[in-house]
Amino acid sequence: MSGVVVLGAGQAGLQLASSLRELGYDDDVTLVGDEPFAPYQRPPLSKAYLAGSVPEAMLFMQEPAYFEQHRIAFRASNAAVAVDRALHQVDLASGAFLTYDHLVFATGTRNRVLPCVEGEMAGVLSLRTLDDARNLSAAIVTAERIVVIGAGFLGLEAATVATTAGRQVRVIEAGPRALGRVVSQAVSAVVRREHEARGVRFDFSEAVVAIHGSDGAVSAVELQSGERIPADLVLVSVGVVPNSELAAAAGLAVHNGIVVDHHLQTEDPMISAIGDCAAFPFASEDGRTVRLESVQNAVDQARCVAERITGKPAAYDQVPLFWSDQAGLRLQIAGLTRGDETAVMRGDPDGTAFSVFCYRDDRLVAVESVSRLPDHMQARKLLRAGISPTREQAADPGFELKSLLALAVAA
Ligand SMILES: Cc1cc2nc3c(=O)[nH]c(=O)nc-3n(C[C@H](O)[C@H](O)[C@H](O)COP(=O)(O)OP(=O)(O)OC[C@H]3O[C@@H](n4cnc5c(N)ncnc54)[C@H](O)[C@@H]3O)c2cc1C
Repeated sequence: MSGVVVLGAGQAGLQLASSLRELGYDDDVTLVGDEPFAPYQRPPLSKAYLAGSVPEAMLFMQEPAYFEQHRIAFRASNAAVAVDRALHQVDLASGAFLTYDHLVFATGTRNRVLPCVEGEMAGVLSLRTLDDARNLSAAIVTAERIVVIGAGFLGLEAATVATTAGRQVRVIEAGPRALGRVVSQAVSAVVRREHEARGVRFDFSEAVVAIHGSDGAVSAVELQSGERIPADLVLVSVGVVPNSELAAAAGLAVHNGIVVDHHLQTEDPMISAIGDCAAFPFASEDGRTVRLESVQNAVDQARCVAERITGKPAAYDQVPLFWSDQAGLRLQIAGLTRGDETAVMRGDPDGTAFSVFCYRDDRLVAVESVSRLPDHMQARKLLRAGISPTREQAADPGFELKSLLALAVAA
């Protein structure tokens, strides 16, 4: 078998296989997954599915018949264990091997583990896979005292579900604020405020030094300050590491992800990398290397590589998009910040609906919207078109942002 072999049957891997078929690719397409499931969506795992409001069947991105109908050879529970670039061959855990004309890494990320957590302890969970979400969902039902370690998107989404279910939640964060690595101070502050209004207690600039158990189950979390917080459920949500070891072992460059060029190609022209595992040059910023973790990025990068493989090469250049549900707020982000931007408020940050326009010099680089869908939709278009409203225009909620787009079209 040759054709395209895709490693990783997640959001990016499935999209690549589907896009190849949509674009008329006629050779073999093989999708290799190490999980026992057909490709499923991860975002609901920390939101509606975790809350029990979406049935499991809704998570799967395609019906089982889809793969045969589209001639996609899907191999579940069969991790790729080695890549031989000279032979153009991938070895699978089952002992089988596949040969490829083109190989695509879509191996995603795995959760970072806390150094102080040794081995397994009942009640200490993390969240990435469907199995993780099943376990966490069941645990939230019976837990009385929940500690979330890490105030990032996922940890705080889980905290939202837990407080909605009436549980007590304490969040321990090593940094000084909520969502500190991903949003501005203003959004961080409103997210904290709304979580606190639901009873969440935050401990910032605090490190967890030990997790204690009795009879094999968690009983407390110990902080650097010496405090021991009683807990019967601990969610460890302290970031991820890219699954790039296989690529590194095959001699490909790896630096916080599998290094690719503007076309998402590794230094081996027969191998690409897409989605959460890919470190790529961000076109809007003179090629600063970034690795993004979002559905939009996974889907658009998959489409970009499928187009290249089918003869329409183009550099990857999409506006990054993210969303998150936080304590009753819908957070949407268009663009990418790196922390040195100046923020312009549109709307009232003391309320629960406003946007933060983030500027580097006079250039708009990102817009974070809290429950303001129209701003988000206009921001996507402005960033895509490279149009920056003046700071005065951005700050004036009465100013029609779409008028700038109309002007650009007319020009
Ligand atoms: C709980 C949760 C909530 C999220 N919420 C949002 C959200 O609200 N919005 C948003 O934009 N993004 C969200 N994300 C992120 C989003 O799901 C990811 O960015 C997206 O899934 C990335 O797609 P991917 O294909 O690169 O990786 P994944 O979907 O993670 O797929 C990678 C797959 O490759 C497999 N794999 C790894 N190594 C091998 C190997 N050697 N052989 C075979 N298979 C292998 C992995 O097990 C996995 O199944 C969320 C993620 C999680 C975990």
